[in-house]
Amino acid sequence: MPTIAFCTIKGGVGKTTLCAHVAAALADSGRRVLLLDLDPQAHASLVLGLETRDGPCVADAFGPRPKHRLDEVVVASPKRQGLFIAPGAPRMAALERELFGWGHRLQAIPRALKTLSWTPDVIIVDTPPSIGAFTEAVLCFADVVVAPVPTGAFALQGLGEIETAWRDVRESGGELVAAVNLWDRRTPATNEAMEEALKDVTVPVLRARIPRSESINQAGLGYEVVFDTSPNAPGAEELRSLAQELAKRAGLR
Ligand code: ADP
Ligand code: MG
Repeated sequence: MPTIAFCTIKGGVGKTTLCAHVAAALADSGRRVLLLDLDPQAHASLVLGLETRDGPCVADAFGPRPKHRLDEVVVASPKRQGLFIAPGAPRMAALERELFGWGHRLQAIPRALKTLSWTPDVIIVDTPPSIGAFTEAVLCFADVVVAPVPTGAFALQGLGEIETAWRDVRESGGELVAAVNLWDRRTPATNEAMEEALKDVTVPVLRARIPRSESINQAGLGYEVVFDTSPNAPGAEELRSLAQELAKRAGLR
């Protein structure tokens, strides 16, 4: 099962935004998508139509004695055909700490997937902005790890840390790529400096340049994706291209 994960130690750079839109775009293109929301803030789950609930969360399917099978955790998105969500929840912060004492924690995801009775075409994963037990398990498992980088000063800060963590835990195969977010056509000098800086990055940089878009931000504020609020708004097309570029890299049919 091709798995695409969004990870960096920096917060506020677009992990959740890119993750939710890539999951939605791949579902819209006819794939059966499973979203694993490993961020206790659960914004990806919310944006894709799940209310905060007291029900089971994705981390309930992890650990030596999981409370639930993944089958019992996954919910069909009320807004999108083909999209299934293993939701996040605030109490996952505590569940993550429990994983640290478990010898198989790097295998948490493939073990949980054994308790799913169907096979998704693609798995999309959101992570918290830190390298804890969840992120390490994801770095170990994902075929494509996407580190969003914001355009501007300090953009590439944090990329080195995620690369080191990824090299430490990953199994054979898999790749780490950078995705440029918050691109602004009105600041050509910044963009030029950014393109220059990107030449020195040691991981592949995706072709897509996701623009800073008021429509993307507004959609998020209303717990929606831009494809549903204004499908032709600036940035929507680039987000669809990002999804297709990633699908190709992950070897998706
Ligand atoms: P992270 O998950 O890395 O913490 P988020 O995806 O939550 O980052 O994004 C942080 C904030 O930036 C959110 O308010 C989001 O709506 C906004 N944002 C992210 N990407 C864009 C974009 N391309 N255009 C406009 N706003 C964006
Ligand atoms: Mg986030």
